[in-house]
Amino acid sequence: MIADLSASDLEAYGARIRADYDAFRARGLKLDMTRGKPAPEQLDLAEGLLALPGNRDHFTEAGDDARNYGGVQGLPEVRKLFSGALGASPANIVVGDNASLAMMHDSIVWALLKGVPGSERPWSKESEIAFLCPVPGYDRHFAICEEYGVRMIPVPLTGHGPDMDKVEELARDPAVKGMWCVPKYSNPSAELYSDETIRRLAAMKTGAPDFRLFWDNAYVLHHLTETRHEILNVIDACAAAGNPDRAFVFASTSKMTLAGAGLAFFASSEANVKWYLARASKRTIGPDKLNQLRHVRFLKDEAGLLAHMDKHRALLAPKFAAVTEALEARLGGQGAASWIKPEGGYFVSVDMTTGSASRVVTLAKEAGLLLTGAGATWPYGKDPHDANLRLAPSFPSLSDVKAASEGIAICMLLAAVEAEQA
Ligand code: PLP
Repeated sequence: MIADLSASDLEAYGARIRADYDAFRARGLKLDMTRGKPAPEQLDLAEGLLALPGNRDHFTEAGDDARNYGGVQGLPEVRKLFSGALGASPANIVVGDNASLAMMHDSIVWALLKGVPGSERPWSKESEIAFLCPVPGYDRHFAICEEYGVRMIPVPLTGHGPDMDKVEELARDPAVKGMWCVPKYSNPSAELYSDETIRRLAAMKTGAPDFRLFWDNAYVLHHLTETRHEILNVIDACAAAGNPDRAFVFASTSKMTLAGAGLAFFASSEANVKWYLARASKRTIGPDKLNQLRHVRFLKDEAGLLAHMDKHRALLAPKFAAVTEALEARLGGQGAASWIKPEGGYFVSVDMTTGSASRVVTLAKEAGLLLTGAGATWPYGKDPHDANLRLAPSFPSLSDVKAASEGIAICMLLAAVEAEQA
């Protein structure tokens, strides 16, 4: 343990780590572990999509011409294909264009302007509104709240979802209108919300009658091991608890097919879907149904979808293993940091001792290694402990991930030694 070293041992050890750091920097590498983007080989897995639907194959199962306007809710065959993943009947699913983030954004803007089923007035007419934000969390969720003046209240994650005692207490405030949840392989902690957590979220008393869970199931099929973990169906849990309209569920094929040209989904209760479609049909005469058709032709059915996700796993799992192996090899038993071993999702979350995360990012940058800025996983970009780091190994090649992980581990050790010497 670094903390147990005598002053002279710490100095000798620090000199060794500094030499390792200088050697790493001298390699002049340019590495980027900042964003959870699919790698080109993953996008190649969906190359077949680009030729579809060819040969004048542009008719839907119902015989409609997918090239034309219309079909705001999305093709029934697409809704059927993703019904299992979304945990909703095809009637309660809306297919959007390529970004679920856009559907989340629109849902918040429409709630602000119009309210949601159960609202007494539009959210923007309240004197103040707030969202609960499990931390560490997804920076783009927080950016939507910041953009529209929704106050964010951080709530700690526990390893099996948010601290529910805190959530239940905070949700009693009528200003709290919603909560961000990434319930499966959470970004970035990779945790799974437990059944108990989901039941409590579904059943808790809320001060706002129109409280919504923004249930971003972005990593619903994104397993990194052979175990395809399942979590409780939130729509059913909310209905069973007498709160049928509580959950807005989102997902997309961004990390299944093409990140810039996939399909996004909204799933919820009948009333919420009706509400969503009433707004969406003012915004568009219909989504890109050729892309929907192309996805059905390419993936075929749920078995085809799962088999496709297995191919992603084969490419991604070695990269995640490279990160955790490098951290273990350099930092194991040192007490300088803790990290997760994700079984799904796109990130490795690392917790440094308080006050060291931003130093790691700076050291890494000076050595040619880009990391997501410290604080990004917290509302307003401010981690009060300056401890959390999010590593994203999906995009770089495996050899780059190996080099980057070695470099990150060295930077973490050096930051820990510096903190101990301060
Ligand atoms: N939600 C989470 C939790 C994410 O991590 C990401 C991308 O990293 C997204 C949503 C983006 O989804 P989409 O591409 O469907 O907009």
